[in-house]
Formats: sequence, structure tokens, C-alpha cells
Amino acid sequence: MIEKIIDADNITAVKKYIEESADIVIMAHRNPDGDAVGSSTALMHYLRGLGKNAHVVLPNGFPDFLKWLPAADEVVAYDTDKEKAVNLLNDADLFFCLDFNALSRVAEIGDVVSALGTPRILLDHHPFPENEFTLSLSHPQACSTAELVFRLIYRLSGEMAITKDIAECIYTGMMTDTGCFAYASNNKDIYIIISYLIAAGIDKDLIYRKVFYNYSVNRMKLFGFVMYDKMKVFTASNAALITLTYKEMRRFNVVKGDTEGLVNQPLQIKGVRFSCFLREEVPGKINVSLRSVDDFPCNKVAAEFFGGGGHMNASGGEVYGTMDYAIERFKAALSKYSSLLTK
Ligand code: 5GP
Ligand code: MN
Repeated sequence: MIEKIIDADNITAVKKYIEESADIVIMAHRNPDGDAVGSSTALMHYLRGLGKNAHVVLPNGFPDFLKWLPAADEVVAYDTDKEKAVNLLNDADLFFCLDFNALSRVAEIGDVVSALGTPRILLDHHPFPENEFTLSLSHPQACSTAELVFRLIYRLSGEMAITKDIAECIYTGMMTDTGCFAYASNNKDIYIIISYLIAAGIDKDLIYRKVFYNYSVNRMKLFGFVMYDKMKVFTASNAALITLTYKEMRRFNVVKGDTEGLVNQPLQIKGVRFSCFLREEVPGKINVSLRSVDDFPCNKVAAEFFGGGGHMNASGGEVYGTMDYAIERFKAALSKYSSLLTK
């Protein structure tokens, strides 16, 4: 039996909004990951099955290892297809906001959405959502937004509504957001849900291979280089830092998705509880990814030192400045939080 975590009143309200809408746009966060793309395409398939004109609009493109997802080729990226994206947003009578908790996370889409009076339904698992949504279904205990999409569809239409396409998208979101069920994945419902997805026809082993056995030679070499040359372990603080400059990214022809998972690697080292990855995506702008194990709150570090946020064990932010400055911020964070890391 799956626990009903979404409030019955919210289910009724979502049902009414869907019934009263014909054109629906689903959006997810910038630099979309497996959960952002998986949850939004799953909901798109469901809504299309109900006869709705549903589309996914994302702030920018997503990694190649997600391109096989059913109808992923129909996803509209705002940065490269602005006219189409704006038209879809303008024409919509309902928005679904998936896998983010603040409109600032969808970049320019957020400005367009803010200026429109279109109802916005939040469905998300990041803690501390902003008060910017018409209806807020915020469930930080869920392993992924894809899990929440399953729960929503299941409550609205029952298990028979879960088609193979929907199930593939949902499984991909759940699998990628939990590191293949290695973290945030102790809820028994996750495995009941997976049993429904398998019943709907997914090949979970094949999905694993499509997502994780799909790397380029460049990416493998990049990982080797980074592990050998670019990782610094702060043994006394149980922490590790990886840095990658713009120049190094060019040297390995890094493309979207190539650095995915790199930040998790140092957590495999005995004792390491906190990992930080600083990558200079464009000269002068450093993207920050933070990961931790057990109760070390990397979202607090992200908010205090890197102008970002996220989950307790997976968060991110940005630094505008040089790599040296970003490293300084990391070291300042480490000295402030060392007591929590060594307790
Ligand atoms: P990643 O390291 O994969 O980019 O991000 C890890 C997690 O942190 C994701 O759940 C993402 O939504 C969240 N995150 C990344 N960057 C930011 C940010 O700038 N602000 C907030 N609030 N969350 C972020
Ligand atoms: Mn997510």
C-alpha cells in the first residue's frame, strides 16, 4: 500500500485545474538533470493521454544521455528556441513547475511566467519553496520529483494510467536523483512504485545502461585526469574539493553531461563526508556542486557561501570571480563547518 503523502484537497484542486485547461506547459529547472527531464516528460505524456495540448519548456538543453527518453526530442529549450518557448508560455492556461522551488531557478522563463496571470502548480521535492505558486505541492521527503509525478497520476487516474512511456520517464528521474537508489531511497514506497513501473513494461536494467553506459572516451579521460590531478582531499576535515577551469574543460572537449557524477566520486573515499566541485563553465563564472552523506547540510553551505541552495545532501550555487576566489570561499566554508564534519 502506497502512503498518500499528497493532501486530498490538493489532488482535487489539481484535477480541477487540469479539467479546466486545454494548453498546459510544464517547466523544470535550469541545467536540467534526469529528474527534471524525466518528471516533466512523464507528466507531459500523462496530460497528452487526457487529450491536453501539453508541452515541456526548459531554460536550456539537457545532457545527451537523456535524449532517448520518449518524446525528449519535443522538449523546447528556451535559450535556443526562444520564440517557440514564449509562444507556448503565452498560449498556456496552466503551468506545472517541476523539480524547483523558486522561479529564479528557471532563469528567463521565470520572468515571462511572473508577468502572466496563468495559474502555476508547484510539484517538487526541494525544501523551503518560495511563496510564488498558485498551488504548492511541496514534498521534500520524496526521493525525486518523478516519484511525485507517479504519486499524482496514481491518485488522479490509478495505476492503469501509467503507460510504458510514462514509466520510463519516471524511473529515469527516480534512478538518477537517488544515485541508483544509493541515497535518499529508504522509503519502502519507492520499491512499490518501481514494481508498478516494471508492470507497466519498463526494462530497468536497460534504462540503467542507456543512462550510465553511454559515455564518451573524452569523459572517461576527463574523469581519470580529475581523479589523478584535480582532487584535493582535506583528510582532517573529512572533505574533498575538485576544481576544473575553463581551459581544462576545453582541453577535454567537455560537453553537457560530461561532468555529471564527478562530484560524487570523492564520497567513495573512506571518511569523506562532504564533496565540492567547482567548475568554470564560462570564464569568470564558477558553478558549484556540493554533495554530502548523512546529516551534513550542504544546502546551508550553498546558501551561505555560494548564493544557492538545494537538498541537505545535494545542492549547488555559483561564484562570480576567479577560481582562486571560489577556492577561498570553499576553504572559508570548511573552516566554519569543520566541527560538524568531524563530529
Ligand atoms: P547539481 O550539483 O546537480 O547542479 O545540483 C544539485 C542540487 O542542488 C539539485 O537538486 C539542484 O536543484 C540544487 N541546486 C543547484 N544549484 C542551485 C542553486 O543555485 N540554487 C538552489 N536553490 N538550488 C540549487
Ligand atoms: Mn529532483
